[in-house]
Amino acid sequence: MGINIKKLLQGEIPELPVRSQITLDVDESLAALGILEAKEIHAHGQVVLRGSEAYLVMRIEGEFIYACARCLEPATYVLDVRVDKCLRDSESDAEDCIILKGSILELDDFLLEEITLNLPRKVLCREDCQGICPVCGINKNHETCHCEEDLVDPRFEILDDFFS
Ligand SMILES: [Zn+2]
Ligand SMILES: [Zn+2]
Repeated sequence: MGINIKKLLQGEIPELPVRSQITLDVDESLAALGILEAKEIHAHGQVVLRGSEAYLVMRIEGEFIYACARCLEPATYVLDVRVDKCLRDSESDAEDCIILKGSILELDDFLLEEITLNLPRKVLCREDCQGICPVCGINKNHETCHCEEDLVDPRFEILDDFFS
């Protein structure tokens, strides 16, 4: 979606409300982060003038369902990004600004980039998730096993010595 900010740049209006809704496809790159499902993302805010420069000020909110990095059960990640970025019409001296095409702001292109940049590589279902037992495969948040204790139990080493 392209938004023409010409009227704002010419001083005809003081600010321009912007709003967008995006649903990301869970493609390979999102799946690689562990994302199972992407809910609808809402972005809302405005383009404002500060002096003669235009700025995009907005909030991006959405929810992603990840596979927990330890136990693989669904884990919700709430995305909440505040944006405050300058808008420029050329690349020169516009570091970290959004580049306009003429007076058109390609909002969705920017949003996609911003969302992708802000997605974590790992999400846990809870901070103290116990994960999956590497030996028997149970989810240690729900069940208990003694696999690891057995592996490091010194009594077994003594028995090994005894029988060898
Ligand atoms: Zn977990
Ligand atoms: Zn186990």
